[in-house]
Amino acid sequence: MHVLVLGGGVVGVTSAWYLAKAGHRVTVLDRQPGAGLETSFANAGQVSPGYSAPWAAPGIPVKALKWLMMRHRPLVLWPSLEPRLYGWLARMLANCTEEAYTRNKGRMVRLAEYSRDALRDLRAETGIAYDHREQGTLQLFRTQKQLDHVPDDTRVLDAYGVPYAVLDPAGCIAAEPALARVSGTFVGGLRLPGDETGDAHLFTQRLAALCEAQGVTFRYGTAITGLRSEGGAVMGVVTGTGEVLSADAYVAAMGSYTPALVRPLGIDLPVYPVKGYSLTLPVTDPEAAPVSTVMDETYKVAITRLGDRIRVGGTAELAGFSQILRSPRRETLARSLGDLFPAGGDVAQARFWTGLRPMTPDGTPIVGATRLANLYTNTGHGTLGWTMACGSGRLLADLVSSRTPEIAADDLAVGRYRRAA
Ligand SMILES: Cc1cc2nc3c(=O)[nH]c(=O)nc-3n(C[C@H](O)[C@H](O)[C@H](O)COP(=O)(O)OP(=O)(O)OC[C@H]3O[C@@H](n4cnc5c(N)ncnc54)[C@H](O)[C@@H]3O)c2cc1C
Repeated sequence: MHVLVLGGGVVGVTSAWYLAKAGHRVTVLDRQPGAGLETSFANAGQVSPGYSAPWAAPGIPVKALKWLMMRHRPLVLWPSLEPRLYGWLARMLANCTEEAYTRNKGRMVRLAEYSRDALRDLRAETGIAYDHREQGTLQLFRTQKQLDHVPDDTRVLDAYGVPYAVLDPAGCIAAEPALARVSGTFVGGLRLPGDETGDAHLFTQRLAALCEAQGVTFRYGTAITGLRSEGGAVMGVVTGTGEVLSADAYVAAMGSYTPALVRPLGIDLPVYPVKGYSLTLPVTDPEAAPVSTVMDETYKVAITRLGDRIRVGGTAELAGFSQILRSPRRETLARSLGDLFPAGGDVAQARFWTGLRPMTPDGTPIVGATRLANLYTNTGHGTLGWTMACGSGRLLADLVSSRTPEIAADDLAVGRYRRAA
């Protein structure tokens, strides 16, 4: 079968890899000159099944109001008249119940754990390297109040059998020795030893090269402007030059831009772009830099060691498709880094970046079939697209190939919203 994968981010490229492994002829289309150059370019680098949880959770509406008031706020909402934003927010609020949280979390953990295992298999099979480390992650609490809420999180971790350790300051320093230099700034931490870290862009580029070696064709610089359908199936993809490309099956993996592509076909994907920011800077003193990821709970900022660089990522900004780099967001990232790893890297040399997380209101990505017989989606991975990419790609390849997937998948496709309605 010939499969066209629309989008060459980490999700599109992992889809292409597993589709090629399943024996299909695969072509990937992307408007950029290479793979992984949009949201997958400079994310926070966490492969974190342990943190796989929806943002929509009981108590979040009240917390969100507090976050909006902070000087270094983790959440920013730009006044907008965009109806899609308010519709999406309403659906997110509807998911803030205990029942919805438990259901959504269960789906996300299932996919994230499968994905971590798929990534490990892929590494063992190919030897792919991407500045990765397998040293767990550490959520760092600056206040006793934050620490007092840890049992809420560990209850969930216990329920899903995720290993963890609650650490006192000495334990945090044992995990992340550079924190000894700022020992007065935190009161404890929650360590997730099963989590990993790595550069999603490097991974995507290297996996794209491995895909090419398997016979996958990449057509970069190809803008996708629409889909043509007939008789309940997609007949072709229209490109910016007016060319129509046809295949037996189509995988829509264009991140935040996927809903606009499939909407004219009557498919409503509740995916909204949630803007995030990162800084990438060179390590100047390895002893003063993190060894893995440290999540600063106060500012919701993740600080990750990627080889000889430090990546600092965070902020959720609801601002449509705007890609403007806003300096207050940079200050928040720099502030968190300066508090925790003041001598680890050179902020003056930092590269400031922004990307749009393709977020669903229930946190779970939309992987699987659609109402059109040969159209599949692999999108909506939100804050966890790097964590879930390999599992989503492998699952998608099984579905396209009519093979029984290795994990339950009925509640991951877009049909779950129809059923809920
Ligand atoms: C600040 C930040 C920090 C993050 N940290 C983490 C983290 O630590 N761990 C984690 O798991 N996840 C993290 N994420 C989320 C993760 O980066 C995303 O979920 C993931 O990159 C989404 O991948 P994707 O392939 O779906 O989208 P993308 O990478 O955006 O890929 C979509 C592709 O489609 C192409 N495309 C779009 N429209 C068109 C068109 N019309 N024509 C042709 N091509 C098109 C684009 O060029 C792009 O290459 C973070 C995100 C941000 C912003």
